[in-house]
Amino acid sequence: EERFAFLAEWLDPSAALLRRYQLLYYPKDGSVEMFDMKNQRTFLRRVKFDELHPEDLFVGNRVNVFSRQLNLIGYGDQYTANKLGSKKERTLAMIKPDAVTKIGDIIQMIYDANLIVTKAKMTKLTLKQAADFYMEHQSKSFFSNLVQFVSSGPVIAMELMGDEAVSTWRKVLGPTDSGVAQKDAAHSLRAQFGTDGTKNAGHGSDSLASAARELEFFFPSTAGHGPSNTAKYSDCTCCIIKPHAISEALTGKILKSVIENGFEISALQMFNMDRANAEEFLEVYKGVVAEYTNMVDELCSGPCMALEIHATDAAKVFREFCGPADPVISRFYESYNRDLVL
Ligand code: GDP
Ligand code: MG
Repeated sequence: EERFAFLAEWLDPSAALLRRYQLLYYPKDGSVEMFDMKNQRTFLRRVKFDELHPEDLFVGNRVNVFSRQLNLIGYGDQYTANKLGSKKERTLAMIKPDAVTKIGDIIQMIYDANLIVTKAKMTKLTLKQAADFYMEHQSKSFFSNLVQFVSSGPVIAMELMGDEAVSTWRKVLGPTDSGVAQKDAAHSLRAQFGTDGTKNAGHGSDSLASAARELEFFFPSTAGHGPSNTAKYSDCTCCIIKPHAISEALTGKILKSVIENGFEISALQMFNMDRANAEEFLEVYKGVVAEYTNMVDELCSGPCMALEIHATDAAKVFREFCGPADPVISRFYESYNRDLVL
């Protein structure tokens, strides 16, 4: 019987311990099985689990198995690596200041290209940070314009993942010069949202090596958090795009709707909440609403996206925009998408 094997890590919040498992997946009946590596024993006996899909199984991804968020950190055998791992890559996408308000359409283009967003952060680069990022172009005539431009306003950095992510994302971007893009690749991102040779809406790593360096720049794996987010913490409210909406690839649609309804997104960041964080975030609902536990389950079931919504009387007007909490009632009132955002 065909079987895929992974090395998986789970942060056990009650013990604050990183636990390691072997995760087995049987595509024939969609069942899973887990072994505790340290104690050398079965942790989860083989059981059918419909919520895990074969396309989610690749190293670097996070999957949810019975409310445990597992990081897939390695392939368990050569068969699995060959079959599922061959073409998966990560790349860095940066939405430049001229296209940040188009983030909704852009994320939709990312999903349409079969890539997923695994990290995201809005940040504003200093001149020095921009110069470091574009180090390779130091000696070029356009360097100073370029550095000025990318530090002139917020950018959105994202880690994208998928088959041949590096070249796929550059294909979505189109030719470097937006004018050329408009002639040769009319549907590309740079054709639609860029202006000229410098103001060209987006950046994409040009190789796996650049991707590794550029991802490290925005999303350091070890010390620090990288360039800070753009949160203002004034005249604002917090919007969370919930994990189910993210996994249903609705992020682009939601962001577009938020922006088109006149709200300014003044900060944006993707988070993977563990249970303790989700409980703390939703604490005010504890013992107040019956759905508290379900809300916590949902919030830590996968990545969510936090937005700072900047507006006058933000909390009131944004809640009106979201509509009633229950999507059934919400649809009845023809309110918009309250089922997708908190
Ligand atoms: P990319 O990988 O397609 O982004 O292109 P490069 O790595 O060659 O250049 C980095 C960025 O510098 C581009 O995205 C443009 O914003 C800018 N740039 C590149 N070439 C030129 C140029 O010839 N003139 C101007 N004004 N800007 C350029
Ligand atoms: Mg380049």
